[in-house]
Amino acid sequence: MDRLNQAVVFLGPPGAGKGTQAKELAKKYGVPHLSTGDMLRECIAKGTALGLQAKPIMERGELVPDSLVLKMVKQRIENADCSFGFVFDGFPRTVAQAQYFGELLKRCGYTQPVVVHFAIDPALVLKRITGRRMCKVSGEIYNIFERPTKVPGRCDNDGGDLEQRPDDREEIVAPRLAAYAKQTAPLVAYYRRLGRLHDVDAAQSVEEVSRKVLEIVRAPR
Ligand SMILES: [Zn+2]
Repeated sequence: MDRLNQAVVFLGPPGAGKGTQAKELAKKYGVPHLSTGDMLRECIAKGTALGLQAKPIMERGELVPDSLVLKMVKQRIENADCSFGFVFDGFPRTVAQAQYFGELLKRCGYTQPVVVHFAIDPALVLKRITGRRMCKVSGEIYNIFERPTKVPGRCDNDGGDLEQRPDDREEIVAPRLAAYAKQTAPLVAYYRRLGRLHDVDAAQSVEEVSRKVLEIVRAPR
């Protein structure tokens, strides 16, 4: 089997399809697909020392501090299952995290990560997210713009009512996208300066984006 043998980071706004792509790439190479959200939930479920520290903070709805997140990332990537590479989805989020991550990777014998940047017009992402509708019966996801049902408001499979999830409403999504863009711009610039950033046009089809992602991670460097 092909080995990934590198740290790959997927960077992009919510709704750009990076989660799907990160999962697919990790599966293809048989390496872990990591996100700090999943890692935190796992630490809490297992009752690890870090989990016990993070739990009350998350329960209060507060942001888990960098020091804790970074400790958790360190422990996770030192795990044996990460020795042939791994795919990080949505981490690092800031330049400070990226700097620490770079040091950490060096100590683990890795170079700086290959960063796959999902570039997409914010207006298109907004349309993708606000257009989502979920069947109340089966949970099937449709999209009024990209994947409409035969009868508006009704699931094609079971005729169930379609609903918009509260988090997909424009008044929730638009500020989140704006905050994301503001927070991520310095990170994008940082990795671009290091020559590690690779742009992918995330407006393309899932298949086209997958092809491009593979091309990037397979490129000799
Ligand atoms: Zn349905």
